[in-house]
Amino acid sequence: MKYVIIGGGISGVTVAEKIRLKDRSSSINILSNEPILPYSRITISSVASGNIPGNKLVIRNIDKMNNEGISIRINSEAKHIDIDRKVVIFKSNNNSSDEEVPYDKLIISTGGAYARHLGVAGEDEGIKNIEYLYNVNDAEKINNDSTNKKSAGIIGGAFISVDFINIFTSKNIPTTLFLRGNGFLSRYLNINAQKIIEEFIKEKDVKILKNININKFNKDEDNNLKSIETDNGIYDIDIVGIGVGIERITDLIKTSGIKYMNGISVNKRFETNIPDVYACGDIAEIEGNTFGDWLSARLMGETLGAILTGENIHFEEEHVNTLNMFGHNVCIFGNPTCDNVNEEVFDSNMYVSINKDYDNRIVGGICIDSKIHMNQIKKAVKNKVSLSLEQVLNS
Ligand SMILES: Cc1cc2nc3c(=O)[nH]c(=O)nc-3n(C[C@H](O)[C@H](O)[C@H](O)COP(=O)(O)OP(=O)(O)OC[C@H]3O[C@@H](n4cnc5c(N)ncnc54)[C@H](O)[C@@H]3O)c2cc1C
Repeated sequence: MKYVIIGGGISGVTVAEKIRLKDRSSSINILSNEPILPYSRITISSVASGNIPGNKLVIRNIDKMNNEGISIRINSEAKHIDIDRKVVIFKSNNNSSDEEVPYDKLIISTGGAYARHLGVAGEDEGIKNIEYLYNVNDAEKINNDSTNKKSAGIIGGAFISVDFINIFTSKNIPTTLFLRGNGFLSRYLNINAQKIIEEFIKEKDVKILKNININKFNKDEDNNLKSIETDNGIYDIDIVGIGVGIERITDLIKTSGIKYMNGISVNKRFETNIPDVYACGDIAEIEGNTFGDWLSARLMGETLGAILTGENIHFEEEHVNTLNMFGHNVCIFGNPTCDNVNEEVFDSNMYVSINKDYDNRIVGGICIDSKIHMNQIKKAVKNKVSLSLEQVLNS
């Protein structure tokens, strides 16, 4: 059997390792368009902050992978999937012409692919110090660009903005956060939890501006970012981090004939509409749901690897997203923003909430600095129980 995996992130590498645990003879080829071996994407902000070099993030050893018979080609970009011939056409830095690798089974684990752009004037015109954060190259660029800066901006209220806050404040750059809406992480947190996180942000001396639309980036005579024009005035900013999410779709997928909605459409066994082609990790849309967290990506990789080696299982989501926000533990379970019935308890040190659907079943929850309650909330969300918050916490 010949397995080809496109993408050497946590989901792709985990599929390879899980296959190899049970299957010692099949060939496994991973194509990765990145310049280094698989690394911890969730800690790239420490490279951008200048705390560690990029190669220290690497989480797999090349000798060990070679010993396991898992071949990984870095700097190798998959360009096209020829479904009829069952080959992947790719381009590597080592070869000026395209190369091919045949597969019996193909796994697409191309992740988020790249950071989303805002689409405003000046953004894509080569102005220096407009930053995105998706991969280790971006992180190294941010570290270089952020030297001697006077005023940083961050645009967007998604998770990447947490990284940008850590990066700019660690370099003592006065920082302003521009939010288009009325709250931070409003897609993931209810209003009271958003307020708590905003207090954490203010403790970092970051100014938060809400309900602001960005219109234009202005440059100086040396092509450096000079200011940001908004519908609320012009702000002098000489470096900006744009954190408005990730894009999944790439030309590779567009030209392949593989069904794509908000991600590659798969069932709970990661099967696409094309026989012998699977997708897992951030790129997969599993029965209508996409995911964007490390634990889900790894779990998908483990589950798909087991399926490919004969186990009769399917993906069961964990419902949990755990984050460290400025030294505070934030745990998000299921869908905590559906606010129809919302119960919460909090004091100055911790916050716990649950919310229910119209059938009175718990479908989401949030714990902030409340690790002791995480298991109860996780279980309640997973089993969609119909209990009060007090009953859950006493269960
Ligand atoms: C800055 C940042 C911070 C994050 N912080 C957290 C966090 O704190 N907690 C959390 O749970 N999650 C976090 N995430 C999300 C988490 O990193 C992802 O959910 C996870 O990495 C997804 O793994 P994956 O294997 O599906 O995809 P990825 O990690 O995105 O890996 C996909 C790989 O495929 C490669 N690729 C794409 N196209 C091709 C191609 N055509 N040919 C070859 N290779 C290709 C990509 O370059 C990439 O290396 C963060 C993400 C970012 C960007």
